[in-house]
Amino acid sequence: MNASSDSVTSRRVVLASGNPGKLREFAALFAPLGIELVPQGELGVSEADEPHVTFVENALAKARHASLHTGLPALADDSGLCVAALGGAPGVYSARYAQRHGGEKSDAANNALLVRQLAGHADRRAWYVAVLVYVRSADDPQPLIGEGVWHGEIVEPPDGEHGFGYDPHFYLPDLGATAAALDPVEKNRVSHRARALRQLLDKLAAA
Ligand code: IMP
Repeated sequence: MNASSDSVTSRRVVLASGNPGKLREFAALFAPLGIELVPQGELGVSEADEPHVTFVENALAKARHASLHTGLPALADDSGLCVAALGGAPGVYSARYAQRHGGEKSDAANNALLVRQLAGHADRRAWYVAVLVYVRSADDPQPLIGEGVWHGEIVEPPDGEHGFGYDPHFYLPDLGATAAALDPVEKNRVSHRARALRQLLDKLAAA
């Protein structure tokens, strides 16, 4: 690996995601480090497969794929919800949880399945996980990894109008609100993604 600081502070970096919201959020946070994020779609890179059973492996696969096809350093993320009473499910399958159980691929179907599966369970503990991976090249032997975990409880009925995914059912006891009831600015400050990003930015700044 090339660990010199200018190798990571004055470069174009490909973002292994086509999500415009993620690009906006990440671009603003990486700009102060002299990193310009370019979405992989703009460079003709297709979406990578996510065949693995851990967040870090999937994020790494996406980052490697984007770097391999562009020759640029790459940033990728993977995230999801883990529920204690379900042995950590839906985990890496969070986006397509209901689909894997014969339902449709939608937030509503995922939430309905989650609530059904937890009916009668006293243990409501759950946590969001976000993993961010930065590779300097496709065969970087020492990727930089940031991981953020955000603990809460699954509640029914849902509450809140903001956020997405499982947010209306994800209750934060210390904040007294679901993630969907939080102001979006507040969520972006305290979420699993914010925590993962802070960890990765610290590592990038120190690299
Ligand atoms: P991805 O990492 O963007 O592919 O997200 C994976 C899936 O995890 C999403 O489709 C959601 O179902 C779930 N997820 C990840 N982060 C959040 C969040 O902040 N709120 C709600 N759901 C989330």
